[in-house]
Amino acid sequence: MKLPEFSPEPIRDEDQPGYQKEIWRPSWRCFCCRDLGIVDPHLARLVMPEYNSDRDRNPICQAPGCNEGANWLHLRGSIDMRFTAAICQELDRINREDWRQATQQQFERYKKQLYIATDAIAQSHSFAISNRTPNDEREVQQRKAEIEAISPEQWGEMNKDYLVGSNKDE
Ligand SMILES: [Zn+2]
Repeated sequence: MKLPEFSPEPIRDEDQPGYQKEIWRPSWRCFCCRDLGIVDPHLARLVMPEYNSDRDRNPICQAPGCNEGANWLHLRGSIDMRFTAAICQELDRINREDWRQATQQQFERYKKQLYIATDAIAQSHSFAISNRTPNDEREVQQRKAEIEAISPEQWGEMNKDYLVGSNKDE
């Protein structure tokens, strides 16, 4: 027979053609376990403050729609099944909100930096020519307006490298 030709089917939504990326979203599907199947330790501590991931049974993620926890079920003696679907769903929500806020703050900071840099360039420029012409002034105002108009989406594109895989908190 003549073999058919398939298009690949990416596992992650963001690898699908035409996917509209939300700027704040790292590449995990599950924000409770970061697709590892074990509840993220800093989230687990919201429920179990004394939790030590080196010492204690690891809480298995049971978030609705996340099947990664199944990979750990054979390790009967070292897993903790008390994190129910409802708990994991709430931890997922909390972590998503944290990410959204962190990204928004980063965005505001970035915009401010650009703004200050534009001012500094304008000042050094007008100093060099000893007085600023109306044209210079117009250019500075235009630059600032452009910065103001940067949308979070554009910023996300500019900072893709920062957003994806910036989980260095361990
Ligand atoms: Zn999960």
